[in-house]
Amino acid sequence: MSKPRKPIVAANWKMFKTPSETADFFRTFLPVLGTLDGVDVVIAPPFPCLPAASEHAGKSIVRIAAQNMHPEASGAFTGEVSAIMLRELYVTYVIIGHSERRTLFGESDAFINRKVLTAHASNLRPILCIGETLEERDAGHIHDVLRRQLTAGLAGINAEQAIETVLAYEPVWAIGTGRTATAAQAQEAHAFIRSVLESLYDAATARRIRIQYGGSVKPNNAAELSAQADVDGFLVGGASLESGSFYEIIRATVHSSLEG
Ligand code: PEP
Repeated sequence: MSKPRKPIVAANWKMFKTPSETADFFRTFLPVLGTLDGVDVVIAPPFPCLPAASEHAGKSIVRIAAQNMHPEASGAFTGEVSAIMLRELYVTYVIIGHSERRTLFGESDAFINRKVLTAHASNLRPILCIGETLEERDAGHIHDVLRRQLTAGLAGINAEQAIETVLAYEPVWAIGTGRTATAAQAQEAHAFIRSVLESLYDAATARRIRIQYGGSVKPNNAAELSAQADVDGFLVGGASLESGSFYEIIRATVHSSLEG
């Protein structure tokens, strides 16, 4: 039986690629991608590359995401970018609460929640990242951490908005390390996340919310991960920087979703 959710595969380019490299990527990637059906494809380049990315994505199936934003609309926040600025650049999604933001830039659950609320108020779809560290997993705290990040991150978000929110389960120990969660570990975490969503909203709402997996996803592990019942696509870092490997992950996602 196929899943009741369309998979979504998103590229998180982090602090890689210049505007001209962004244009080069799209020139190679779009003809290969064509009009592939049955999947949402999103690319999140660095801020200075957003105009080039939006221009090249044009009428293709690719939607553009920002990697971060500030919850306020404007103000004395040197170095920050607001939702309305992103909307003017045809940005559709925004990654919020990536573990690098949480760890390196000290973002709290409460601050992340303000961004999620602002994104919805500004017609941007948040990709809300959650995930445990290795220490938290080893100490048996994975469920507590996921429940806390979800409950706090989605505070004040109604069921309709929750359905428009994409969740990304990214175990911190698997990001950029080459160490992927096994398909069973990913499915267990995703099923738990869906059970928390059910308690926060209701079963019908929880069934409609997409939960991506992120953490060292590559063309050779995407199919098995994607075949899991509660895995609805991927947030891809390293392997999204090269158009061929990003396309292979998208293709594997579509195929295993059709077979699933
Ligand atoms: C990420 O940055 O969200 C990520 C999952 O990175 P990688 O695929 O490189 O592990």
